[in-house]
Amino acid sequence: SLRTTKPRIFLPHLIASLEQVDQTYIMVKPDGVQRGVVGDIISRFEKKGFKLTGLKLYQCSKDLAEEHYKDLKLKSFFPKLIDYITSGPVVCMAWEGCFGVVASARKLIGATDPLQAGPDTIRGDLAVPTGRNIVHGSDSPENGKREIALWFKEGELCEWTPVLTPWLRE
Ligand code: ADP
Repeated sequence: SLRTTKPRIFLPHLIASLEQVDQTYIMVKPDGVQRGVVGDIISRFEKKGFKLTGLKLYQCSKDLAEEHYKDLKLKSFFPKLIDYITSGPVVCMAWEGCFGVVASARKLIGATDPLQAGPDTIRGDLAVPTGRNIVHGSDSPENGKREIALWFKEGELCEWTPVLTPWLRE
């Protein structure tokens, strides 16, 4: 029976687990939630082969929004940005992948100004003004870690091995 079968070590899994792994924090902003494009956005990262390790709908505080965007504190649009991010629930996501996952997610998202974002990117397809660009993605692996730690509590993240890992990572 299944219960008595000895656990087998599947070599590709073992090798994949030794590869460098990065994390990125992706967030559907309040306009994306209101516009009903959460499923579309999640689907793009799933199809790219990223591994979802955290997901929640969340109304964030002003303090959290300000901490998240602290590098932009001196920008003239900062107060507007904080109002925007706290204007309704956001969808917080932690995604994991091999080296390059953070930059790859930024490509799927497209340029900050949706007018400059290429076709087939999330912002290029779904948004127009920079102040309503519907999605956030970390800009470096360091910020990926920092932002995931900021938005998620430890028990909210899941460690799991997708069966497709050996087909998605070298
Ligand atoms: P990104 O989100 O692409 O990493 P930034 O870190 O430069 O871009 O800016 C963070 C967010 O601040 C943007 O996604 C956008 O929502 C907002 N923002 C940036 N520049 C402007 C601007 N000129 N006017 C209004 N909002 C802006």
